[in-house]
Amino acid sequence: MGWRRGFRMVLKGGCAVVRAARTYELEVTLPGGGVKRVAVTEKRVRRLNLRVRADGSVALSVPAGTAPASARSFLEHSAAWLERALARSVRKRAAAEERRREPLISRTGADAGTLPLWGRLVPATEVLGADAPQLADDELARRIDALYRREVARALPVAATRYEAALGVHAARWSVRTMETRWGSCTPATGSIRMCSRLAAYPPACLDSVVAHELVHLLEPSHNARFHALLDEVCPGNRDARRILKCSPREACANGGTALGSEHDGETTLHI
Ligand SMILES: [Zn+2]
Repeated sequence: MGWRRGFRMVLKGGCAVVRAARTYELEVTLPGGGVKRVAVTEKRVRRLNLRVRADGSVALSVPAGTAPASARSFLEHSAAWLERALARSVRKRAAAEERRREPLISRTGADAGTLPLWGRLVPATEVLGADAPQLADDELARRIDALYRREVARALPVAATRYEAALGVHAARWSVRTMETRWGSCTPATGSIRMCSRLAAYPPACLDSVVAHELVHLLEPSHNARFHALLDEVCPGNRDARRILKCSPREACANGGTALGSEHDGETTLHI
């Protein structure tokens, strides 16, 4: 077991106090014989909280002062649950990867030659040029990416202004990028926010929700209860938008941009 000490800022009566936060790793043997590493962190929580993250890693938070033997015993009792949660997580990631690989333009079927743009299927020749059907795949991908970047850059100022006013914050710098795994990201220390160009494929409410999400990070860097309360307040549709963003762009268009599925996020949690 490796011990590591991190430090965490805790605000107490307006002044910052630095406290040591203890983190360490434990290994748990699953019923099927596999061994999984678990990152254990002492937090100011009342109960043990075991979580399979969206990336398949496992985290256990425990109340400060919990003996590692108690954490280990909890993990042993939760091994069957953990094995099922890990299997679900693998299936979810495989499905997400499949959606990501789905071609943006279908070459066959009733909607052949259409491209998702702001939640609607539009003829590719209208938005990419008359020669779109003749383009090689990589040139087509470049044109789509350029279109999506332009579209997000064009739509961004209106959404940014609206949510900056609602939250009373101001981002120092916005940029639009081609990102494979995220819809947006924020560096609270510098106030810079990056948006994914592919948001242009989805209904505009999805762009709004990512803008609001990243701006809330300027007030609250972590995804805690305060973060979600702030986000729900300024962008009540953010949970529906999040569900839509789990679909492929063509699925999102086919369903008229309405919410699909019932999962709230990629995490699976066990509390005790
Ligand atoms: Zn976030």
